[in-house]
Amino acid sequence: MNKFAIFALTVLVAGLAQGDEGWVMCQECVGAGYIEIEITCDMCEGFGFLWELCPTCHGTELTDIACIVCDGDGTIDCGWCGGDGWWTVTAEDGITQIDELCPHCFFGQIDCDFCEGSGILHNEPCPVCTGGEIEVDCSNCYGYGVVIITEPCSACDGQGGYWEEE
Ligand SMILES: [Zn+2]
Ligand SMILES: [Zn+2]
Ligand SMILES: [Zn+2]
Ligand SMILES: [Zn+2]
Ligand SMILES: [Zn+2]
Repeated sequence: MNKFAIFALTVLVAGLAQGDEGWVMCQECVGAGYIEIEITCDMCEGFGFLWELCPTCHGTELTDIACIVCDGDGTIDCGWCGGDGWWTVTAEDGITQIDELCPHCFFGQIDCDFCEGSGILHNEPCPVCTGGEIEVDCSNCYGYGVVIITEPCSACDGQGGYWEEE
């Protein structure tokens, strides 16, 4: 026996015990006068999310991204001096070590070949979307896929109960 049935029985017994007219709470709506119904969200058709045009690539699936080689800096560490900007050369005497400004770079950095120093790669596959669209939580059902609506209880005409007559 489910809760509803027990409740209905309780109401019935209470009614019988009194044996006279009385307000009987509606079993269908438990006295509320309305019932809550879960319906499939019609905005997202129950999926809980919607597809929206990707704001990053505007649906083109291609976008500019930070260069993967230089992390968007446009420059990378110089391979000759290890990014120091200085390197050590041996003087003409063959013994003395002299620190010199590295002639291959600018303060240890050289332009990134991969992005030609811009730090940006153009028209790369968009990293944030699928097929130019992204999933966003449905604003109608907050991602649940169902919404709760209330309807006046038909069993009690929205009154929440009825007067029992003898
Ligand atoms: Zn929805
Ligand atoms: Zn995109
Ligand atoms: Zn260098
Ligand atoms: Zn680069
Ligand atoms: Zn009712």
